[in-house]
Amino acid sequence: MTPNPPFTDEHEQLRASVRGFIERELAPHAQRWEDEQRFPDELFGKLAAQGLLGLKYPTEYGGQGGDYLHEAVLCEELARIGSGGTAAGLGAHVNIATPPIWKFGSEDQKRRYLVPAIAGQLIGALGITEPGAGSDVAALSTRAERVDGGFVVNGEKTYITNGVRAHFIVTAVKTRQTTPAARHHDISFLIVDRREGVVSSRLDKLGWHASDTATIAFQDVFVPAQNLLGEPGEGFKLIMANFQWERLAMALGAVGAMALAWERTAQFARERHAFGRPLSGHQAIRHKLADLATSVYTCRCVTYDALRRFAAGEEPLREVTMAKLLTQRACFELMDACLQIHGGAGYMREYFIERAARDARLGPIGGGSDEIMREILGRALSL
Ligand SMILES: Cc1cc2nc3c(=O)[nH]c(=O)nc-3n(C[C@H](O)[C@H](O)[C@H](O)COP(=O)(O)OP(=O)(O)OC[C@H]3O[C@@H](n4cnc5c(N)ncnc54)[C@H](O)[C@@H]3O)c2cc1C
Repeated sequence: MTPNPPFTDEHEQLRASVRGFIERELAPHAQRWEDEQRFPDELFGKLAAQGLLGLKYPTEYGGQGGDYLHEAVLCEELARIGSGGTAAGLGAHVNIATPPIWKFGSEDQKRRYLVPAIAGQLIGALGITEPGAGSDVAALSTRAERVDGGFVVNGEKTYITNGVRAHFIVTAVKTRQTTPAARHHDISFLIVDRREGVVSSRLDKLGWHASDTATIAFQDVFVPAQNLLGEPGEGFKLIMANFQWERLAMALGAVGAMALAWERTAQFARERHAFGRPLSGHQAIRHKLADLATSVYTCRCVTYDALRRFAAGEEPLREVTMAKLLTQRACFELMDACLQIHGGAGYMREYFIERAARDARLGPIGGGSDEIMREILGRALSL
């Protein structure tokens, strides 16, 4: 098949190999991990052994020396696990926890955190959201007081992916006294090791059952000065820089999940009979599947265009935001329509679509909600 730009033959070969690995080694266990509400930590080592935790990172840190397009292949293919929670836990490590260390970290931080993270020996999380600060990131109130040799951190993060299992948490904190006018210029990042005073509590949720989502309380946690990530007070820039890739990764994940759900639902519609013919023989179902195929295609085109621009070094804020906004809602709507085509079976645990529909609900909320995407677009469109 001709590769779909910006991907090339090389990327398609990578895709075939990643898909084979996922279908062989991960997908068969998805149901068990969902039931156990946790995928094993060993999965990080397993992916690392395939080079999949460092596709975009330089070889000097143990990465594969590829770029964002190689990583994009993984983002899309992780959906083939068939467990949004497993994809989310692995994705959080690769797409949101380690990139800030790569982009903003010192050489020493890269050696201590990025190298073992790429090797699957350390698991990372990104801790920004707080009980009182979600969409309004600048309202965060976790404090880092300067003390001799470092900082003492107090506060609470919530909804943190890998929040129980993570060995280190890339954590947004306030280091100065905040005035309302300066609140965006008052955020810093610390790499916080799991240690005394870091207390995680697992949260129960609608979907993503195999991932651990947690609150993390920091109670007088000492963090050495060499774990300050980037410049003090410049954390908002780090958050914004990170968001572009996170949102693209989410768009790619949605496209992968939509394609998988469509394939399986079309198959179901060919096999299931009602009123003397396959479901797909009924025009209403056939047309619905045609509409859904169009939605997969549209979402893929918009996402690939934003990806192409991003990988070329543009700053496609508008296109990435549109891709995130379009794909997350479209994914959830497609899952709902696919569930409907499954009838009663779609409501049953044993059918993958029941889980896929629950898993897809997070998309329009996480990584910047639909409403926040529209706010960003409003500004970008000078409204
Ligand atoms: C399963 C899961 C995993 C997550 N993983 C992580 C993680 O790893 N790390 C991390 O830091 N965070 C994580 N998050 C947090 C996620 O990014 C936030 O939930 C999200 O940004 C929304 O913030 P909030 O929940 O505080 O909602 P709020 O900000 O309280 O918003 C509530 C509602 O109001 C709307 N709203 C808010 N402001 C406006 C406005 N100005 N105009 C119009 N509408 C508005 C929102 O869109 C939303 O619909 C995760 C969340 C979930 C559920």
